[in-house]
Amino acid sequence: MSDTAASSPARSDFIRDMIAADLADGRNDGWVITRFPPEPNGYLHIGHAKSICLNFGLAQEHAPRSRCHLRFDDTNPAKEDTEYVDSIMEDVRWLGFDWGEHLFYASDYFDKLYEFAEQLIQKGLAYVDDLTAEQLREYRGTLTEPGKNSPHRDRGIEENLDLFRRMKTGEFADGAKILRAKIDMAHPNMNMRDPALYRILRAHHHRTGDKWCIYPMYDYAHPLSDALESITHSLCTLEFEDHRPLYEWLINNVDGLPGRPYQREFARLNLTYTVMSKRKLLRLVKEGHVAGWDDPRMSTISGFRRRGYTPAAIRDFCKTIGLTKFKSTTDVALLEHAIREDLNKNALRAYAVLRPIKVVIENYPEGRVEHVEAPNNPEDESAGKRQVPLCRELHIEQDDFMENPVAGFHRLVPGGEVRLKFAFCIICKEVVKDAAGNITELRCTYDDATRHGKKPEGRPKPKGIIHWVSAQHAFEAEVRLYDRLFVNEDPEAGDADFISNLNPHSLEVLTNAKLEPSLKDAKPGAHYQFERVGYFFTDPKDSQPGTPVFNRTVGLKDSWAKEVAKTK
Ligand code: ATP
Ligand code: MG
Repeated sequence: MSDTAASSPARSDFIRDMIAADLADGRNDGWVITRFPPEPNGYLHIGHAKSICLNFGLAQEHAPRSRCHLRFDDTNPAKEDTEYVDSIMEDVRWLGFDWGEHLFYASDYFDKLYEFAEQLIQKGLAYVDDLTAEQLREYRGTLTEPGKNSPHRDRGIEENLDLFRRMKTGEFADGAKILRAKIDMAHPNMNMRDPALYRILRAHHHRTGDKWCIYPMYDYAHPLSDALESITHSLCTLEFEDHRPLYEWLINNVDGLPGRPYQREFARLNLTYTVMSKRKLLRLVKEGHVAGWDDPRMSTISGFRRRGYTPAAIRDFCKTIGLTKFKSTTDVALLEHAIREDLNKNALRAYAVLRPIKVVIENYPEGRVEHVEAPNNPEDESAGKRQVPLCRELHIEQDDFMENPVAGFHRLVPGGEVRLKFAFCIICKEVVKDAAGNITELRCTYDDATRHGKKPEGRPKPKGIIHWVSAQHAFEAEVRLYDRLFVNEDPEAGDADFISNLNPHSLEVLTNAKLEPSLKDAKPGAHYQFERVGYFFTDPKDSQPGTPVFNRTVGLKDSWAKEVAKTK
C-alpha cells in the first residue's frame, strides 16, 4: 500500500488533451499551474478526491514546469473554521499529494481584491447598490425575462468610491449595501446581470479576525486569486460553466494581474448510496446520525481512511472513473472494487469468527495443542507464514452450519463433512441444544488422514472449506460491521430528505467475535483480511495495546453466491 501518489500515466481525457494543445501552442511558456481550492467549511469528501487527483496529478505529469497550489477559498467567514483547514491539509497529504511551499488563502488577497474593486469603480465598471435582498431578486429578472436596472446603477464614480470606502470602514449595517459589477441587466446569462462583488458582513474570520466587515463574493475572489497566483488552468466542476463569462469578464477588466488563467469544467463525482456535499455531511454530524466527520460510514476522506480505505485505492478509483463533461452517477461498487483489489494484494490474512458456534472434536485428545501453518498472504510470499493454534474445542461461524440445509449448501450439516482450512476434515455427529432450543455446540469427529488437503478415504470429498479459531486460544474483540449509510441508491430520489433514507443497519457492533491470537498484537492502522469474512482495519482511534477494535472496510465478494455458482 504505497502512500505516495504513483506517477503512472493517467488515461487521456478532454482536459489533458486541452492542456497538451495549449502546450503545443506555446501558451504559458510551457508551464502547467493548477490549484485545488477547497472552502474550509467542512471535511473533504470522496468527490474532492477526484479534483485533488486531477489537479495534483496534472502537476506531477508535467513536472518540472508545473505545480499545484493548495488554496483555501475562505471568503465566507460565517461557515469557516481552522479545524477544517487542518483536516483538509491532512487529507490531501494522506492521499499522497504535496503542495510544497504553495499554500495560499484567498484571505491573503483581501487587500489586493479591495484595490481591484476600487479600480473597477474608477473604470465605471462597478457601483454600490442600496437595494434590499428582496428588491435585488426582483430586479434580477428570470431566465425568460430580462432584469431591470437598479435606480442606483448610474451613481457617479466619486460617490461610488466614497460609499464603498464607507462600507469598508463599517458605516453601514450588514446587508445594507453591496458592490456590484456593472455589466448588463438584460444579459441572457443571469450571472452577468450586475453580479455582487462585495457584501457587508460582520463576522470573525479565522485568519483576518475582525479586520474586515466587507467580504468579496466567491465569483469575484476566485478568478482574481487564480490570476494572482499565475494559475494557468483553473479546473472546476460543471456547475461553474455558467459562471465562466463572469470569470472572463473579471480577468479581462482588472488591470495589473500577473497571470492569465483559463477556467475549464468537468463533471463532478456522484456515487450511488452516497451524499456528497459538505453541507449535507455537516447535517449528518450535527444531528448525530453518525459519530463524527470521520465516522467510517461517511463519504469523507477521513471516514474512508478510518474505514480502512487506502490512498492507493482511492487514487486508482479516480483514475478508473476518468473525466467527462456530462453528469453521471458512479456505482459505489466500483470504489469497493478498488479497495478489494488493493487489500487482496496487500492485507495480511487472519482467522476471525464473528458469530461463533462451538465445535467439540470428540476424538481429538483433550489438552493437546498443535499448530498449523497458514500463509500470511497467499498473494505475497514474502509476507511469510504463521503458526495457528488448534485444539479440541473450536469456534466456527454460525453461518457455516445449517441444521436443515437448503439446496446448494456445502458447509457443515448434521452428519455431513467439511474441511477446516489448513487443518483436516470434520464430520458433525450431534447438535447440542439448550432448553430453549438454541444450538449450543456441535459434537464432531475429525479424520487425521485428511491433513494436508488429502481426500477422505471411501467418502466423497467435502465441498466446503471453513475457517475456525481455537476456543482455548481465541480472544474476544469488538468488531464493527459497517454497511452503506443509505438504503436508496439515490438518497434524494424524488426530492426525499436524505435523512429519511438512512440505513438503520449501517452499523452493527459485535462484541463476542473470536479472533486468532496473533490479532491481539494488531497495530492500529493495520489492514487484515479475515479469511472468508472480509477486509478489516484496526481502528486507529479506539484500539488500545492488546485490545484492538476492528472496522469492516468491505466484505469479500459474496462467497455464498460463488459457492452456488461453482457447483452448477
Ligand atoms: P461541497 O458542496 O461538497 O461543499 P464544493 O464544490 O462547494 O462542494 P469546495 O470546497 O468549493 O466544495 O470544492 C473544492 C474543489 O473540489 C472545487 O474545485 C470543486 O469543484 C471540487 N469538487 C467538489 N465536489 C466535487 C465532486 N463531487 N467531484 C469532483 N470535484 C468536486
Ligand atoms: Mg461550497
